[in-house]
Amino acid sequence: MTELEALMNRHIREMVPYSSARDEFSGHADVYLDANESWRGGNDGVNRYPDPLCRAVRRKLEEVLGLPYDMTAIGNGSDEVIDMLMRIFCVPGSDCVMVERPTYGEYGVLASLNNARVLDVPLLPTLQLDVEGMVSAIREQKPKMVFICSPNNPTGIVYSLEDIARIAEENKGITVVDEAYCDFAEGFRSACALIRENRRIVVMRTLSKAWGLAGARLGVLVADPEVIAVFNKAKAPYNVSRLGQEAALRALSDADAVREDIEGIRRGRKHLAAFLLLLPFVRWVIPSEANFILIGVDSPAGLCSYLASKGIVIRNRSSEPLLEGGVRITIGSAEENRKLEEALVGYVET
Ligand SMILES: *Cc1c(COP(=O)(O)O)cnc(C)c1O
Repeated sequence: MTELEALMNRHIREMVPYSSARDEFSGHADVYLDANESWRGGNDGVNRYPDPLCRAVRRKLEEVLGLPYDMTAIGNGSDEVIDMLMRIFCVPGSDCVMVERPTYGEYGVLASLNNARVLDVPLLPTLQLDVEGMVSAIREQKPKMVFICSPNNPTGIVYSLEDIARIAEENKGITVVDEAYCDFAEGFRSACALIRENRRIVVMRTLSKAWGLAGARLGVLVADPEVIAVFNKAKAPYNVSRLGQEAALRALSDADAVREDIEGIRRGRKHLAAFLLLLPFVRWVIPSEANFILIGVDSPAGLCSYLASKGIVIRNRSSEPLLEGGVRITIGSAEENRKLEEALVGYVET
């Protein structure tokens, strides 16, 4: 048994997958009478089942983002990727999952859903990873999975690849590196480069943020082919809709436009950060590598409700540890950012 197989739940490793009509015939035919679909077309082809393996999307991901085809799988958003990884690796009722705090809440929620204990390790006051704290927690608690989000949500901070490699080396379970916001980071070094050396590392990407497809639901798993094979075997056969796959192909074919938007968001981020620092009620601004900024203010709830009254919604994160007074603001279009700045000036004056 390989190291990875030994980490997987036996019932999943040994299960016989559903074999769909699309799995059993992959050539081209004139007449498809194998999947009990409707013959009636005319609605973007959705009378036909989608490709279970998202092959065209994965070829495009290789071409545009350099993610090797045999190392990717597509989930119905990162949500499904996280859930499937937990189902594959965590023994319900006994394994534990380690997450830094504050971070994306979905790891903890999906751990609860899978009856895995959640072990929080606080970030340092600088909002950097507490590498030594994580290493000793790993030695003590032996988590089956460790989640690291870089750039982190809600801080926008990128962790060093050396720190991530060190934690992943120490962790004898799976280390998941969530790179949902990596497109917005300058000079980003992806943990994908670590997988060949340490096959227990898996990386998550998503088309929900920079690629503008939050409503289409495509999360990308980048991992050793052995993990990819089990993920594809265990997931729902038609987990990503035909409309979603086509939207992904269109977005990835227009990468230049997306990269231009990313440049605009970086400019907006820089401008907004400088603007926010000048406001008297803003106590701190975290330098962000994502498409949002986390700031600390005197009265987070007051600011949120004031902005809501102006038709602008931001996210109150002040109940998270280390984030007293924290609110998270997404970088919008130039026009949206201008409206936000105008409203904030009004807040000072009231
Ligand atoms: C938004 C976000 C995602 C994306 O989730 P999807 O299910 O792919 O839309 C993943 N991870 C983090 C940390 C996020 O903030």
